[in-house]
Amino acid sequence: MKIAIIAHDGKKAEMVQFVMRHIQFLKSKKIELVATGTTGKHAQDSGLEVERYESGPLGGDAQIAADVVNGKIQMVLFFRDPMGKHPHEPDILMLMRICDVRNVPIATNPATAELLIKAIGVGKF
Ligand code: PGA
Repeated sequence: MKIAIIAHDGKKAEMVQFVMRHIQFLKSKKIELVATGTTGKHAQDSGLEVERYESGPLGGDAQIAADVVNGKIQMVLFFRDPMGKHPHEPDILMLMRICDVRNVPIATNPATAELLIKAIGVGKF
């Protein structure tokens, strides 16, 4: 199963805490990870193997959305910063819409990301 991780700058610390908490599970053979550029760098620095796409503002969210459409990504963990302004807001909205269109689970905050990871852990997806 391929999971995409995206974290806005204001949420990168929480994302790193999240991946550290779940590092053994995220390293398991059944999980492949992709991420937007800077998020992916943080995840790699935390010890994970991650395929890195473009940074979000340069089209990374759009690349992830395209992979959701073509069936290559089955889950998105999106640590959004609702307090920040983002030059790529249209791409963010597009990614969330595409996940809804394709019925792909997308967590937009850490609490939901926790629930999704736990659900995969017990084989719900
Ligand atoms: P980044 O992109 O991981 O390259 O910072 C995330 C975003 O801002 O959407």
